[in-house]
Amino acid sequence: MANVTKSIKSTSITLTRGDITRQEVEAIVNAANSALRGGGGVDGAIHKAGGPTIAEQCKQIRERDGGCAPGSCVITDGGKLSCKHIIHAVGPVWHGGRSGEDDTLKNAYISCLKLACQYGIKTIAFPSISTGAYGFPVERAAKLALEAVRDFCEDNDYLDEIRFVLFDEKTFNKFKEALEA
Ligand code: ADP
Repeated sequence: MANVTKSIKSTSITLTRGDITRQEVEAIVNAANSALRGGGGVDGAIHKAGGPTIAEQCKQIRERDGGCAPGSCVITDGGKLSCKHIIHAVGPVWHGGRSGEDDTLKNAYISCLKLACQYGIKTIAFPSISTGAYGFPVERAAKLALEAVRDFCEDNDYLDEIRFVLFDEKTFNKFKEALEA
């Protein structure tokens, strides 16, 4: 499936299908849980490919800060992965949409983008946060993810590329529709 790209100022927004652990970018984002403990889905794939030092750093953060609240993120190095950093973001668990899930999801994306800038990261790859085990409807999540990115890039012209790495065709198509809208 062909990649889709759009520019906002000098940042390229790219959509691609694939596995986030195999991207050549400076930072990848993990869809983590608040306890920063290993889970399934993209979190499991990242810890498996990146090796045990990532979980060790997550444990240190957990012991120091008590974990990571939904809508925020923490950073570790990339372990055995080719990226320099992994940003572990916590999205909302879907409870029907009236518990602030939309804002929490946008905040998760924006907190990653802010942290990336603080660390001098110019290229970052995101999975579709919260739309797996956390049950957030994909179409709604795709719109919010791209809104968050658009809002951020209109105010911050720092990043070279924001890449969404979508694992399955349905998710890719929903992001594509949202980007083209
Ligand atoms: P959450 O708990 O935030 O819902 P999940 O990991 O369950 O996170 O799912 C988030 C998205 O990540 C889903 O679309 C899932 O298909 C996708 N995903 C799973 N493995 C990978 C991977 N290796 N690379 C990119 N995306 C992945």
